[in-house]
Amino acid sequence: MDDLPPRQTTEPDQAEAAMARLLRAATFAARVHATHRRKGSSAEPYVNHVLEVAQILAAHGAPEEAILAGLLHDTVEDSDRDPEPITHERLVLEFGALVAGVVAEATDDKSLPKEVRKALQVRQAAKKTDAAKMLKLADKISNLRAIAASPPAGWDHARRLEYVGWAGRVAAGLRGVNPALDALFDATYRDAVARLAQEA
Ligand code: ZN
Repeated sequence: MDDLPPRQTTEPDQAEAAMARLLRAATFAARVHATHRRKGSSAEPYVNHVLEVAQILAAHGAPEEAILAGLLHDTVEDSDRDPEPITHERLVLEFGALVAGVVAEATDDKSLPKEVRKALQVRQAAKKTDAAKMLKLADKISNLRAIAASPPAGWDHARRLEYVGWAGRVAAGLRGVNPALDALFDATYRDAVARLAQEA
C-alpha cells in the first residue's frame, strides 16, 4: 500500500469542501458587518448586501474565488474603524491568496478623497482581473437596486442620478467577461434610469 504524501498546508482551505468554504466566508462577513447597516432609508443589515452580491455571482456562473470574494468584498474597507480591523493578511490566512487578492482589487484606498476614489474606479476598471470585474459588476448591480428601492435618506434626485451615471461609467470598463452578468447590469441600469425619470 502506498503512503499518501503529507497534505500541503500552504493553501489552508484546500481540503475543505466548497459548501463549507462558502458558509465560512458568509459567517465571517456576517460577524464583521454585525453592527453595520446599509445607507438606505430601510437601513438593512449590511450583510444582506454582500449575500446579494455573492448570490448574483453564483447565479451567473462566476468562479468560486469571485463568489467568496463577493461575500468578503467590504470586510477590509468597512472595518477600518473597528477595534480589530480586517487586514489583507488576515484574509490571506483565512481564505487563501487568490480570494484575498480579488477582495484587494475591489477595495478602495480610503486614504484618498471620495471623488478621487470614484474617478479611480472608472479609470482602473478595465485593468482588473476577470474575477474582480465580475465582483465589481455584481456590486454595482446590488447598489443600483438599492438606490432604486431604498435610496439613502439625504440623497436628492440629482445625487441619485449622478450615482447611477457613475456606476454606468465604471461598468463600461468591467464588461466583456461574463455576458449574462453584463445583461443583468444593463437591465438594472435601465430600470434605475427609468425610475429616476419617472420622479423628475
Ligand atoms: Zn459592496
